[in-house]
Amino acid sequence: MERKLASVVVIDDLQPIAGADLIEVATVKGWKLVVKKQEFRIGDHAVYCEIDSFLPEKDEFEFLRKSSFRKMGDQSGFRLKTMKLRGQLSQGLLLPVTVLNGYAYTLGEDVSAILGIVKYEPPVPASLAGMAKGNFPIFIPKTDEERIQNLSAEYEAYKKESFYVTEKLDGSSATFYFRDGEFGVCSRNLDLLETADNTFWKVARLLDLPMRLTALGKNIALQGELIGEGIQGNPYGIKGQTARFFNAFDIDAYAYLPLNDFRELMDEFGWEHVPILDEAFTLPDTVDELLLAAEGNSALSPAGKHVEREGVVIRSADKRISFKVISNKFLLNEN
Ligand code: ATP
Ligand code: MN
Ligand code: MN
Repeated sequence: MERKLASVVVIDDLQPIAGADLIEVATVKGWKLVVKKQEFRIGDHAVYCEIDSFLPEKDEFEFLRKSSFRKMGDQSGFRLKTMKLRGQLSQGLLLPVTVLNGYAYTLGEDVSAILGIVKYEPPVPASLAGMAKGNFPIFIPKTDEERIQNLSAEYEAYKKESFYVTEKLDGSSATFYFRDGEFGVCSRNLDLLETADNTFWKVARLLDLPMRLTALGKNIALQGELIGEGIQGNPYGIKGQTARFFNAFDIDAYAYLPLNDFRELMDEFGWEHVPILDEAFTLPDTVDELLLAAEGNSALSPAGKHVEREGVVIRSADKRISFKVISNKFLLNEN
């Protein structure tokens, strides 16, 4: 699922900010952001650009230069980040629909391409980028997760469900599979060629995955997060690199293994899974409360050190429902 970085939304609410005369806080789905007073009214349509949007250097976005100018490879533009203004958390940008120049939009439509907005991606070291053998296999789901702020319409219904909660680790997505006699290693979007210095393949060999997945004798994929030196600044202070798994996928049945079967598989081979924080979690009253619950110390913090976790991934036991809740504390410290 591609992220809808910029889409047409309805402004759900506008509230004053204590002590601020010129700005107010808007609510869009589960997102809060600071806007200029008088610019919007509740119920207005607007274009909402999510955090991580990378906007082109066009006149209409020049007002972002001071706060948001960034280079991304050989491109330059404006990157939207989580901010705090007058003590108010602000995530993303609202633009009047007039930026679409009369384009006949529908509500919810992704207008990123019309505005020239792409996702901001930090530079990736060559050892993690790798060389493509092919695209990500179609017989395994990708590891993307939706953000809870974009699921506010479903939130009430989700309150009836019981979930398990794992820590979202800040590394690089990895998928290892065995299918019809072939072992493969994938990054988030690519099936990777085996090379001596590719980190995904190094970890696969380190954990003996080619041998062991083959020995299982069934078509299966393991999905996890690559963490350690050279990956996302190695927040957990790990020596070398390893993987922490979050899913096993039965390729022939096209279904994830239930949590218990997954854990048994991990234990059997001495593989590690992501930290499991709760196995019978029900959602709090509001998305805002859930966002607070996502903040906290990482289970992988070195002793005596606080490492703010990236957030949590919340799933129903049958994995029908799955989403991420990113810690706003983590996002405020991101550079
Ligand atoms: P972005 O939202 O900017 O695309 P992201 O790195 O958060 O970036 P998502 O696809 O949105 O990526 O979130 C899901 C990713 O989170 C997975 O691809 C996986 O690599 C990673 N991840 C880390 N820990 C977990 C976990 N416990 N459960 C599931 N996914 C996890
Ligand atoms: Mn994503
Ligand atoms: Mn990530």
